[in-house]
Amino acid sequence: MSNSSPREFDVVVVGAGLSGIAAAHYLQRDCPDRSFVLLEGRDAIGGTWDLFRYPGIRSDSDMFTLGYTFRPWTSDASIAGGEAIRDYIRDTAREEGVLPRIRFGQRVTAASWDSASARWRLAVDAGGEQLHYSCRFLFFSAATTTTSRATNPSGRDARALPAASSTRSTGPRTWTAPASASS
Ligand SMILES: Cc1cc2nc3c(=O)[nH]c(=O)nc-3n(C[C@H](O)[C@H](O)[C@H](O)COP(=O)(O)OP(=O)(O)OC[C@H]3O[C@@H](n4cnc5c(N)ncnc54)[C@H](O)[C@@H]3O)c2cc1C
Repeated sequence: MSNSSPREFDVVVVGAGLSGIAAAHYLQRDCPDRSFVLLEGRDAIGGTWDLFRYPGIRSDSDMFTLGYTFRPWTSDASIAGGEAIRDYIRDTAREEGVLPRIRFGQRVTAASWDSASARWRLAVDAGGEQLHYSCRFLFFSAATTTTSRATNPSGRDARALPAASSTRSTGPRTWTAPASASS
């Protein structure tokens, strides 16, 4: 991204996973006069479904429910593998034309509300370069499963964390071996 790229928007969406792509779709469709951008800390679309690649990863619930209402899941497989879900999110982003809205490798590290200007001020780490954004509306679609400090604050395997320090976590952050029946 060039240094002259705009960093002031009506809306900033954080995260280009399942939720962020949906947010972009609805912003484009329902708020065409509003400027917005998606900031994605990683270099890929898909969030959970791009990050986790362990054997057998799949949805827990049926894809007809988990999928987008604006782009229904059409496969016969109701419970889908991670790769199929990743492709579905990527294809949706491409077909909906939201790819140009995404700025990859830009991780939001702080957000504060400035009452005087009535805008959010965002600090963003872009591969070591510190950037500053501002927006009127901040949409967090960053979830917990791909937000390392939320799911794994001590650096240990999320499955080993005591309940009090473990936030909602639907899958292991790192995968080394299948969990034993007693874990
Ligand atoms: C094995 C498994 C099965 C699951 N099955 C189901 C299911 O059946 N039904 C269901 O409802 N849910 C399920 N989940 C939960 C799953 O997380 C959601 O389905 C969905 O993928 C969440 O999408 P999301 O866009 O909200 O978050 P994510 O997929 O986590 O995407 C968030 C994105 O935000 C980015 N991000 C995070 N923090 C920042 C930051 N500070 N700055 C910039 N970018 C940031 C991340 O890099 C990521 O790309 C499952 C999860 C796992 C692991």
